[in-house]
Amino acid sequence: MKDSFIHKGKRKQLLDQLRAKGIGDERVLEAMNQVPRHFFMDSGFLDHAYSDKAFPIAADQTISQPYTVAKQTELLQCSPGHKILEIGTGSGYQSAVLVALGVQLYTVERQNELFKKSSLLLKKMGFNPKKIIFGDGYKGFPDSAPYDGIIVTAGAPFVPMPLLAQLKIGGRLVIPLGEKDQVMTLFQRISEKKFDKSTHGPCKFVPLLADKN
Ligand code: SAH
Repeated sequence: MKDSFIHKGKRKQLLDQLRAKGIGDERVLEAMNQVPRHFFMDSGFLDHAYSDKAFPIAADQTISQPYTVAKQTELLQCSPGHKILEIGTGSGYQSAVLVALGVQLYTVERQNELFKKSSLLLKKMGFNPKKIIFGDGYKGFPDSAPYDGIIVTAGAPFVPMPLLAQLKIGGRLVIPLGEKDQVMTLFQRISEKKFDKSTHGPCKFVPLLADKN
C-alpha cells in the first residue's frame, strides 16, 4: 500500500472537518496528519478511510472514528516523552497517533488476532510503541506504572481501579464510561487519594470485555 497524493489531500480535508467540529489542539491534528489511516482499515472499507466514521475491523471490533481519536487524545494532554498506557490496541490507529506525538506508549490488547496483526503493522510502518501487551486491560500494566496518562478505547461499565492506581499524581485517565452508550470521562489524579472527574459528551464504543467473555 502507498500513501499517495490523493490520500494526503483527503486527510487534510478530514482534519478541517475535525477543526470545524471543535478540535483545537494542532499538535494532535498534526500527529493525525502523519498517520495514513487507510493502512489500518480492512480492505473492504479502504475508500472510506478519510470519512469521519468508525468501521469494522477483525474480531468484531472497530477502528475508532477520527473525531473520537482526536477528542480522546486532546483530553489526554500528552507531551513528547510522556509515558502513556492505551487499553485496546485494536487496529493500531490510535496507537500510531500517540507514537507520532512522541510519547512512550504501552498498549494492551486482549484479542490475539488483533494483537498479532497490529504488532506487525505498527512495526512495519515505523510507529513503534515501547511495548504491545497481550492481556486484560482491566488490570492495566503494573510493570511499567505509573503513567502520565491512560486512554481506554472501549466502553467500560465501571472504572477499573487498577487504572486509577497506575496514574502518576497529575496524570489523566480518559475513559468512555457506560454499558450500551457511554460518556467520555476524564479523571485527573490530584493527590494519592484524590481524583477530579469531568465529563465530555456522549460517545459509542465496543465494550471493554471482561476476562471470561
Ligand atoms: N484504539 C483502537 C480501538 C479499537 S476497539 C483503534 O484505534 O482501532 C477496542 C479494542 O479494545 C478492541 O480491539 C478490543 O479487542 C479491545 N479490548 C476489549 N476489551 C479489552 C480488554 N479487557 N483488555 C484489552 N483490550 C480490550
